[in-house]
Amino acid sequence: MSENHAGNHPVRVAFVGSECYPFIKTGGLGDVMYALPRALLRENCEVRVLMPYYACIPEKFKNNMSFRGSFMMDLTQDGRSFFVGIMETEMDGVIYDFIENRDFFDWGNPYTGLWEDIPKYCFFSKASLAVLNYLDWTPDVIHCHDWQAGLVPVYLRTEFATTPVGKAKSILTIHNLRFQGICSVDHLKYWTGLPDYLFDYSVFLIANNEANMFKGGLAYCDRITTVSATYAQEIQTDFYGEKLNGHLWYHRAKLSGIVNGIDVDLWNSRTDKLLPAVYSEEDVLEKKPQNKEALQARLGLFKDSSKFVLGLISRLTDQKGLDLINTVFSKMMNANTQVVILGTGDARYENAFRYYESVYPGQVCAYIKYDESLAHQIYAGADALLVPSLFEPCGLTQLIAMRYGTVPVVRETGGLKDTVEPYNEYTGEGNGFTFDYYNADLLLDAVERCRKVYREKKDNWNAIVKRDMEKDVSWEHSARQYMDLYRELAQ
Ligand code: ADP
Repeated sequence: MSENHAGNHPVRVAFVGSECYPFIKTGGLGDVMYALPRALLRENCEVRVLMPYYACIPEKFKNNMSFRGSFMMDLTQDGRSFFVGIMETEMDGVIYDFIENRDFFDWGNPYTGLWEDIPKYCFFSKASLAVLNYLDWTPDVIHCHDWQAGLVPVYLRTEFATTPVGKAKSILTIHNLRFQGICSVDHLKYWTGLPDYLFDYSVFLIANNEANMFKGGLAYCDRITTVSATYAQEIQTDFYGEKLNGHLWYHRAKLSGIVNGIDVDLWNSRTDKLLPAVYSEEDVLEKKPQNKEALQARLGLFKDSSKFVLGLISRLTDQKGLDLINTVFSKMMNANTQVVILGTGDARYENAFRYYESVYPGQVCAYIKYDESLAHQIYAGADALLVPSLFEPCGLTQLIAMRYGTVPVVRETGGLKDTVEPYNEYTGEGNGFTFDYYNADLLLDAVERCRKVYREKKDNWNAIVKRDMEKDVSWEHSARQYMDLYRELAQ
């Protein structure tokens, strides 16, 4: 594929997913739904993003949307019809169509729990296809994201097969296989209205009277992608496969991994308005201490730029390797180390980190909230960022950290393995500090190796910081790989 697609007819792609920054974001999926369409525009692609019109979308965005139309759509097994409204907005060349229905999208942030989320995303998946027909905009490819859009490929080849949108091909991207949309067969049959033959082990069925929305989508889509090459391999194994490893292995011919990037305009230490002191690789060594002191002041930590500051920005769930951190937390601490945690999630982790904050006043801050601005300041002010995940499809925090000259300490799994080259103490090369097995002592060892270089080998440390800032973590390369896939499917 040539480097420059200009001159070729633009490929039309519809993105379907449950969250998208800046409208609503709970994790990495929101970042990808924002950044990838923008990167695709630069590759001569026409992109539309379809997502729910949640009540929790901030008013300032809702005020900029215009009404594009509405219709009624049959959904359930007993033929109940539901209202589908379309609200539209445009941002930097990407068109966003929000699907409105007050029965489904009026509460939650945006997720509430599977019992309610399953009907919500059955409706959303079917309505997305109906909206594309209503708008008379037929994409070459429908790019679906995670289980919430998992029914799209199934509806596309069944109820919508003979409608205009039925010409489109579909890709289903796995951002996190842990979440699958599992419920009873009766519940899914009721809310989808889909025929009995689909409730078979090759499509939705996973056990007697248990159905899985993601599984059906993976069976019916034309291509499966996931967000790193390593995760694409891992999910075909027992340990990482979340009980779908057999299904994914069966469909392996259509499975591949394309690593995520980040939006390098949004995450740019040179222009970031949320930082006390902006910087580039030229003056990072002088400006990072300023950002560090401002961070310490904001969080009530001892203000001293010589301290080694370790950051953690994460959903607080077992996926993120927090049990390892918990096991060795006190061994990780010393008088010259500070730890900053930003995250929300399971109470047991929130409380554990609050406890460490009380044990190490002035040295540990557990900020149990979701806060974009603090996230930016931690990326800029910390020396190193911990990502010791049990599994990590791609991971964005290590990419953002590197872009801000903050050295990642990661477990070698999924995208962490594909994006962080381990530091080599003999050659001085590498981007961060890594460990392989899921073991707390190995995490501690990686933190100690990292801290030792920070303290005792300043030149090597400074070289890692600069190298990380220069590393290409943009979407450019990966957007081209998606374009190749779209073009291949569009032919
Ligand atoms: P996941 O999608 O599994 O949550 P990723 O590493 O792919 O993890 O993406 C996490 C994204 O969410 C990053 O942009 C990170 O900065 C952001 N994030 C996570 N927790 C918080 C928080 N408490 N406050 C602000 N941003 C957060």
